[in-house]
Formats: sequence, structure tokens, C-alpha cells
Amino acid sequence: MLDRVDARELVDIGFRSVFVACSEDEMRWHAERAAAFIRRCRSLGLTVYAVPLGYGKVMDPDPSIESLYVREHPQNLQIDSRGRRCGKACPNNPAFLEWFSSNVRTLAWLLECDGFLWDEPSFYYSRGSWACRCQYCRRLFFAGHERELPVDLDEDVTRFRRTSLIMFLLAAVAATQAVDRGLLSLVMPSSAVSSREAGLGTDAWDSLLESSAVDGLSVYVPWQTQGGDMEAAVRSTHEAVSAAARAQQKTSLLWAGGSPHPRDKLLEVLRVADLAGVEHLVIAGYQTLMGSDAFGKFRKSLKRVLEQVS
Ligand SMILES: [Zn+2]
Repeated sequence: MLDRVDARELVDIGFRSVFVACSEDEMRWHAERAAAFIRRCRSLGLTVYAVPLGYGKVMDPDPSIESLYVREHPQNLQIDSRGRRCGKACPNNPAFLEWFSSNVRTLAWLLECDGFLWDEPSFYYSRGSWACRCQYCRRLFFAGHERELPVDLDEDVTRFRRTSLIMFLLAAVAATQAVDRGLLSLVMPSSAVSSREAGLGTDAWDSLLESSAVDGLSVYVPWQTQGGDMEAAVRSTHEAVSAAARAQQKTSLLWAGGSPHPRDKLLEVLRVADLAGVEHLVIAGYQTLMGSDAFGKFRKSLKRVLEQVS
């Protein structure tokens, strides 16, 4: 898809940064294509973040993204509370951690981007069953709590999952920063509501922001699916995430789904975000916006609004 993206056009419209999805299976064959695109973007002054997807699926915002690692290493996958292997590698599994670190180090080296976005790192949870109860998680939990890992997802387990994901992010950042110490690390936590219900592990913004693995939080505003009050959703999400980030002298970004369709109110979202004091608003994504048939007509008004808000 990157072949279709014109970096010059992104700059002309008024964008300042780009988030490039780098899926494990695609990077296996097309990493050089992504690297060339990123070089081109950066030469035009855009800031570029790589978003690794797949890679064992600890980062798992989209279940349709494949991971060859998951297919080939069933023994390193998370085990849920019913004893089943899940389609996600365990962030506490040393063999997976080594593989993951080596892969993101290679990505950092190949892509020469400005930073990474870790998109919804999480443990498995589905309809009451949760992971992970593999031998490494059991051992780590016992060492920290002097009791067996319980079958119920209690407070200690929730905390254990959070800490495990922060340790995982620390390993990821150590790997990328071994290549370039200046590489930024942003985290997209799982959506607040679903993660609080499910105890996914990245629901506590404060503990993420306290970690040296995190330079900033990137939070999606799913206003279209939550009652549709866009203005209230943008403002309240911004207030919450920017206050949490500021308390740790870190940065925050908002994401909003965007397309030329009036239903997505993209121009209004940009204006509301600007008035609310949002510094970085990311529009997701290329396909629904610039890749859509209606973009030709929409381009002029988008460019005008971006000039007004920047
Ligand atoms: Zn485990």
C-alpha cells in the first residue's frame, strides 16, 4: 500500500507526521520498501513513527493481522485460565522476548524512523477466560507474591499483567534505543472501557507514564461508537490523557477515525481538538481518508482547516 502514498502530497495538505504500520509478515519481504518511504517522508520534514503489528501479537489492535511467529511457535503462546493456548505470544516467555527484541532492533536499524508506537500491548482476555498461566508467568507471579497464580483475575493478577507489559515495553525500547537513543516510544493503551472490564494490562495510564519505556500516550477517541457526542468525547479524552501525561512531563496524542464522509465530522473534529488544546491529532487512516474516492473533493477543505489549526 505504501507504493500508493505520495509523501509530497501529505506535506502539501498540511500533515506533519506519519504513522507507518509495519506488519511482521510484510516486513519479512518488503522492509526495504517501507524504509524507502520513511526516508522520503523524513527528507520532506515529516516525523515518522513505525507501528509494529503482528510480531507475536502482544500488540494486537486488529485480530485480522497475521503473525508467522504465532503460527510457528505454539509452545511460546499465552495459556488461558482454561488451559488453552491463545493466539498471542507470552511477553514473559524468554525465547519470545529474545526474538521480539531482535526483530524490533532490526526494524529500528532498517527503518531509520523517529520513533515507535506500540499499539495496544495486551494479554489475552475473552468471555471470562484470561491469560497468561504459562510456566514463566506462574513462576514470576509466585516469586513476586509468594502464592500460586490464582485462577481468578484478582487485583494481584491485574497488577501482574500490567507490570509484565511494562517490562515487555522496557525490553522493546531497550532494543530500539540500542540502535538510536533518540528514538521515541509512544504507547496506545487498549481502550479504557474494554480494558478496565477485561484487565488487559495497559488500562492504567499512570503506571505506563511513570515508566521510562514510555515517552507519551496515544489514545483513540472512539466517539462514533460511543453515543456519537464527538465534542464531549474529544474534550474529555484530551483532558484526561493530557493531565496524566503532563504530571510525568510526557506527551499525549489523540487519534480519531477520519474519512471525507460527513458522518465522521473530520473537519469539526480538527476544530474541536484545536480549541481544546490538543497538540497532536492523528487521523486514522490513509485508506479511509486519502484512499477514498471522495477525497478529491474533500482535499481543499481539509487543507484549509489544517492551515487554520496548525
Ligand atoms: Zn505467560
